[in-house]
Amino acid sequence: MIVMKFGGSSVESAAAIDRVASIVQARAGQHPVVVVSAMGKTTNRLLAIADEAVAGRKNEALTQLADLEQFHLREGGSVGGKVEAHFAELAELVKGLSILGELTPRSVDAISAYGERLSSLIVADAFRRKGIDAVHQDSRDYIITDDRHTLAAPLYPETYAHLEQRLAPRAQRQIAVMGGFIGSTKAGVTSTLGRGGSDFSAAIIGAGIKAAEIQIWTDVDGMLTCDPRILPGGHRVKVISFSEAAELAYFGAKVLHPSTVLPAVEKNIPVLILNSRRPEVEGTRIISGSAPSANPVKAIACKQNITTVHIRSMRMLGAHGFLRRIFEVFDHHQTPVDMVTTSEISVSLTIDNPQRLDAIVGELSKIAEITVERDQAIICLVGDKVAHTSGIAGRVFQSLNGTNIRMISQGASLLNLSFVVAGSDLSNAVKALHTEFFAELDPAVFERAQ
Ligand code: ASP
Ligand code: MG
Repeated sequence: MIVMKFGGSSVESAAAIDRVASIVQARAGQHPVVVVSAMGKTTNRLLAIADEAVAGRKNEALTQLADLEQFHLREGGSVGGKVEAHFAELAELVKGLSILGELTPRSVDAISAYGERLSSLIVADAFRRKGIDAVHQDSRDYIITDDRHTLAAPLYPETYAHLEQRLAPRAQRQIAVMGGFIGSTKAGVTSTLGRGGSDFSAAIIGAGIKAAEIQIWTDVDGMLTCDPRILPGGHRVKVISFSEAAELAYFGAKVLHPSTVLPAVEKNIPVLILNSRRPEVEGTRIISGSAPSANPVKAIACKQNITTVHIRSMRMLGAHGFLRRIFEVFDHHQTPVDMVTTSEISVSLTIDNPQRLDAIVGELSKIAEITVERDQAIICLVGDKVAHTSGIAGRVFQSLNGTNIRMISQGASLLNLSFVVAGSDLSNAVKALHTEFFAELDPAVFERAQ
């Protein structure tokens, strides 16, 4: 058995669903359980409708709901009756909310869950029309969660028991189609696992049925050696470890957040990233152990629009408690600090969110001399051998010859080497580094871009 999860854009239209059906059909022999997100932007639209309703704009909410219904009927094909019944329930909910004027997390879940409830019915029906022996299964009968609505956590013993005892035998015989994102509490109240939760659902289901692998089908070819928004033409990474993927995700590689597939990691189940528009591409395989490679760097990640704060004071010399005082200021203003470098009398750090910057600088100025630089970028070389390979920093400095490196940090994570450059230098720097570290490619790990 395998789990195949398709995100919102993979099921956004009748044509997209038809592509999904062909992909699943070709893999029917592997006994897939199919997990789908809501169609296209449905979740956002449902949440917007709920907001309209509680704000007292009932008619506006109902008009938007009618639009969303038309979209589902148009793209959803022949399950018309069921779709209409679901939207009739939704209309009642919307009216109720507009009277109450209050949106509790529990009602948010009740409404947003309709996205996946609908998409899973529609996809199961489309499969059957294509001759696939598919059966719709309501995820809420399997995924049992606590009652922290909108960000519920699965109760694993109950959930795994249901999946193992009831879903697995069924999935041996028929292709089960289930909605991601949704579950129910012990009391049977609909809950959701948090935005983007369908990947999490796929991992939970895969772990529960002891799947051989979990396939996450998206609209990219997999993980690339560099961020395509900064530098196009990155090579596909064929295999990467969970910890490397986690490092990349932190730096905004949006493909998949590995924390969401933790249940799979714990059970040693590989997770594949695949492209539903180009199913022939073999994608990226994320594995539990390490992924040995002749290239020490697996990928270059970046974070733009970073602000650096340089803090300098002679009073730091030989003094203790200075760092604590500095960090207290950031803490007090609820501003996370990402990267830190220190010397005897200075500290440089980066922040992502400059909203409270003026107040922070005001406070810090009482104890030190402060310089702020906006529009900086962090570049991060990721690879599980980065820390253990000598000469990496040398190669970085060599290839960035002429670029001013403002901060550099290695060692906090053994998996990365990070440094800060001016935003205006970012694209040239990434280009130079990419040439340096990926001119030659280990063919077992990378697929060269065409
Ligand atoms: N439909 C949900 C969302 O948009 C879950 C998901 O797509 O993973 O957040
Ligand atoms: Mg999504």
